[in-house]
Amino acid sequence: MNEFELIERFFRRTAQARPDVALGIGDDAALVTPDAGMQIAISTDTLVNGVHFPADFPAYDVGYRALAVNLSDLAAMAAEPRWALLALTLPAADESWLQGFATGFLELAREYQVALIGGDMTQGPMSVTVTILGQVPAGRAIKRSGAQPGDRIFVTGTLGDAYLGLKAHEANQVSAEAIWLRGRFARPRPRVQAGLALRGLANSMIDVSDGLLADLQHILDESGVGARLDAARLPLSDAARAYADRDAALAAAATGGDDYELLFTAGADRDADIRARAADVGCPVAAVGDITEARDLVVLDGGLPLPYPRLGYRHF
Ligand code: ADP
Ligand code: MG
Repeated sequence: MNEFELIERFFRRTAQARPDVALGIGDDAALVTPDAGMQIAISTDTLVNGVHFPADFPAYDVGYRALAVNLSDLAAMAAEPRWALLALTLPAADESWLQGFATGFLELAREYQVALIGGDMTQGPMSVTVTILGQVPAGRAIKRSGAQPGDRIFVTGTLGDAYLGLKAHEANQVSAEAIWLRGRFARPRPRVQAGLALRGLANSMIDVSDGLLADLQHILDESGVGARLDAARLPLSDAARAYADRDAALAAAATGGDDYELLFTAGADRDADIRARAADVGCPVAAVGDITEARDLVVLDGGLPLPYPRLGYRHF
């Protein structure tokens, strides 16, 4: 099959349709029609084989994860995902790999009603770039720059699972908790509904891709504030507690990346509303600390600071 036949068979025929796609895959550019009064939120993320996922990762998981991490970026803006583009670089046109990849990608796209409207396909070392577009009512996106001293800091779900899951995958571990943790790395559940539910409540938001401390630092830098976190409040899954001792699980929660949970801040008076709206969409939330005027980032455990390195994964 040539590239046009591959695109037709694996992507065009099976992609989710949307009424607001005036022109999808097949022309020089796609045409979409956003709703009146909306801003378009756009984000892109690349996954490189051997860097962002292990070289032996199943094609389905690569496809799923490539879209999931992009959906997470829109969730973190409180934007509703609608359209995606996919730029694929592959060493060879391996049809069974493409079948698995497309299934993982398009199943998740269907779940969120995201239409694949175009892309690119080239030969080279494997990498996957997804561009996602969504919409948000003008002025209502939740940015990194809105945190205020006195805000409470919240996270959704549990932290550290994906980091431990990648370790479990690399060590070929097959216990029940190892498999569950690996699933948290391979198929992160983007917090799209939670992000939308936080419109009008959260002052600032980011998704946890590089690690809690590294991503919180982005909010602090953009907002010109500091933070105090309480280690005892970091939400750990039962699997993380079973898999690692307390110190290792906490270190993973503070510094491990790839969980794709939402990290946000809101006025303390919003606490009850936040818990109610999160419960409405079935999303656990935990308050883990406070925003301070003093521009440092401290993690306290029983009143004593923990010596975690601040930086998460850095490419350069
Ligand atoms: P052009 O040469 O004009 O850039 P291409 O030949 O690269 O067009 O692609 C043909 C059509 O297929 C375009 O509409 C493009 O958006 C779409 N397309 C290419 N690769 C992919 C892909 N991996 N997934 C979805 N659509 C794709
Ligand atoms: Mg092209």
